[in-house]
Amino acid sequence: MVRPAPRVGVLALQGDVREHVAVLEALGADVSLVRTPEQLDAVDGLVLPGGESSVIDKLSRLFEVREPIVARIADGMPVFGTCAGLILLADRILDGLPSQLPFGGLDVDVRRNAFGSQVDSFEAELAVPALGEEPVRATFIRAPAVERVGDGVEVLAHVDGRVIAVEQGNLLGTAFHPEVNGELRFHRRFLATVERVSGA
Ligand code: GLN
Repeated sequence: MVRPAPRVGVLALQGDVREHVAVLEALGADVSLVRTPEQLDAVDGLVLPGGESSVIDKLSRLFEVREPIVARIADGMPVFGTCAGLILLADRILDGLPSQLPFGGLDVDVRRNAFGSQVDSFEAELAVPALGEEPVRATFIRAPAVERVGDGVEVLAHVDGRVIAVEQGNLLGTAFHPEVNGELRFHRRFLATVERVSGA
């Protein structure tokens, strides 16, 4: 029997939505854009793209999709956040705007713009043992870093001694953008979690 493709959404309020859609489709997922509670109901997992976390936060409230996302995370929905998406997944944001809220779920503190401003964007080759021997080519753009890691959070990678990829249960977060480097392994890992959780 052919297994149905995992149904995943990309939160499409702001940020590099298209790049995530392309990677997920390349991996065979059934991908849709999520802006409303109804669209969220139709997916078994969600990607939070890179972009500007304070803007995504604000728009999620405007579109009334914030509370449903928070509820689905509490309910075990698999989520993969990259960069701004990692910030949104953190339980606590350091150097956030005064009114900025995360969705939360990941027991970590994440500092925004931890590596400096836009000019400090950089690329690095990372060892990520959980993904195999081949290093990950990672692009960091005004990237955050994880400054506190709670019990039960697995650190997947470091750069310059800082934590920049984490996993806790069904939640996966990277401070960089695997979606812009042709790196498929993080998305594949996320889809495997979706398939496991949804029984697809
Ligand atoms: N600095 C951005 C923020 O605070 C994140 C940058 C990114 O997603 N590339 O949301």
